[in-house]
Amino acid sequence: MKKIILISLFILGVLLAACSNQTVNQQTEDGNAADSQTNEKAASNEQKKDNENKDKQDKNDKRGEEKKKAETLEPKYKVSDVFSIVPIDQNTNEKVVLLTFDDAPDEHALEMAKTLKSLDAGAIFFVNGHFLESPEKKEMLKEIHDMGFMIGNHTYSHAYLPDLPEQEQRAEIVRVSDMVEKITGEKPEFFRAPNGANTDYTKKIAEEQGMILMNWSYGYDWNKEYMSKEALTDIMLNTDLLANGVNLLMHDREWTAAALKDIVTGLRDKGYEMVDPKLIKTR
Ligand SMILES: [Zn+2]
Repeated sequence: MKKIILISLFILGVLLAACSNQTVNQQTEDGNAADSQTNEKAASNEQKKDNENKDKQDKNDKRGEEKKKAETLEPKYKVSDVFSIVPIDQNTNEKVVLLTFDDAPDEHALEMAKTLKSLDAGAIFFVNGHFLESPEKKEMLKEIHDMGFMIGNHTYSHAYLPDLPEQEQRAEIVRVSDMVEKITGEKPEFFRAPNGANTDYTKKIAEEQGMILMNWSYGYDWNKEYMSKEALTDIMLNTDLLANGVNLLMHDREWTAAALKDIVTGLRDKGYEMVDPKLIKTR
């Protein structure tokens, strides 16, 4: 971590150096121009620069305000007993679905996040700690988080929790929450057990760690017959299980990444909104 901070500081330093060089160059150019023109023009350039700087400052302030607003969103939905996403009050759109992606970040999560971002669709990426050991993967997770996606805890090694002694169940969960917090600055607020298999003890730990439990409504991308873009898109959109509030389970897989755009577009064509997970009530 220290290393990453040091590297980041170094890069920042280089960028700042590059930026100030550019300013110097620009000033030189402006200065040369002023030589052959009237002082009035130079003065108006100065004024223009001042205004530009002010605009920049205003924009930065605005961005800061927006960010603050996003962090304090009022919850509009909650997770039901069957893990559907339901409105808290009757004025909220109930025709929504939640997109979730497990076993990330493996090979396709970043690409999937970019696809979702281009479609302006929110999602939760449930991550495994064993994918987060290399600097590249840490950076990848940070990027996905910084694009605005929520990061959920899916255990360290994708273990079947009921088979483990309590102490290991605890380690599988707590370790990942700590890793995610270290990388993104935020602890996961959702926990999804591998295979949806919790124990009374894992439920207790999730609660203690400030997470709510989340299984799913339906998903198909781990079945052989749906491991293609066409078959997966078709079943995700045309299954009888599609209904208001469904919690859709998908994975960091090649065919899922390929089908993602069509799935989101198809759901929207059917009138469903992709719910922003940040609007879901957590602890
Ligand atoms: Zn999984």
